[in-house]
Amino acid sequence: MRVVVGGGTGFVGRALTQLLRSRGHQVTHVSRQGGKDRITWEELSHSGLPLCDAVVNLAGENVLNPFRRWGDAFCREVISSRVDTTKALAEAIAAAEQPPRAWVLVTGVGFYRPSPTAEYTEDSPGGDFDFFSRLVSSWEAAALIPGSPTRGVVVRSGVVLGRDGGAISQMLLPFRLGLGGPMGSGLQPFPWIHIQDLSGIVCHALEKESVRGILNGVAPSSPGTSNGAFAQELAAALGRPALLPVPAWAVRAVFGAERAVMLLQGQRVLPKRTLESGYCFVFPELPAALRDIVA
Ligand code: NDP
Repeated sequence: MRVVVGGGTGFVGRALTQLLRSRGHQVTHVSRQGGKDRITWEELSHSGLPLCDAVVNLAGENVLNPFRRWGDAFCREVISSRVDTTKALAEAIAAAEQPPRAWVLVTGVGFYRPSPTAEYTEDSPGGDFDFFSRLVSSWEAAALIPGSPTRGVVVRSGVVLGRDGGAISQMLLPFRLGLGGPMGSGLQPFPWIHIQDLSGIVCHALEKESVRGILNGVAPSSPGTSNGAFAQELAAALGRPALLPVPAWAVRAVFGAERAVMLLQGQRVLPKRTLESGYCFVFPELPAALRDIVA
């Protein structure tokens, strides 16, 4: 299969590209910078979609970049890097003479309202209560191609756990020094997925013709994981204590109140349709997922 991947140079994109190539697929990235096996977003808009069988979008400015102040300019970048790239790919698919068979977008579980108790499946409502939920709504709306023969799948991902980037890369140093701990109360749910499973779900969605619509990208045991439990498990995997909670005010001071919600609150999310679609998780449980990552 020839697969075009927007934002394929990033943390998730590198893992997905490796998996797709190991399964014999050809991968072309769409990036802000040209290079081998890449086209730029400008080339996409001028020349259209290269001949391909499937398209994925993973592009997006890192929301939790601690070096970027949470303000209007950054918010606009967070939105446009997701919605405009998704729209560009959807328009290219709609205009293609030979449309691809599959179109997969990765968004986030921020679609669902944070709650310590509610459990969400792909059928649960959401998408209209705060910045992140509205972002996911407009991101997913940008992917829609009315009347298209191309099969559409959206994977709503939890926090992606992997070795070479994402949340864990920022946590490893303090945890290795024994300075890690839960954020805020630590009671908030921590929806997570191992990077191998997120890549696996995207690949499954590309290869299996019967898969369409929303799939939650979280581990099956994720609804039972709190932020505090995650901190304990990460510390245990590293053989270090996790005694130092990060107070909520400090998280707000670094990230800004609106963005801190992502860390201080969380959702219990079930991968109901993902499991029903036949996807078999490699890392359903947190201890094994973390041992794999920190080994
Ligand atoms: P990365 O932060 O690694 O970024 C992915 C790619 O997006 C980059 O390699 C870059 O490609 C492109 N990109 C970054 N900023 C911009 C920008 N301002 N304009 C256009 N393109 C940009 O993301 P991840 O791999 O971690 O995540 C992939 C997708 O999954 C993202 O959309 C993210 O929101 C979503 N997601 C990720 C989660 C996580 O825990 N990592 C959790 C839930 C959802 P290039 O430099 O080649 O242009």
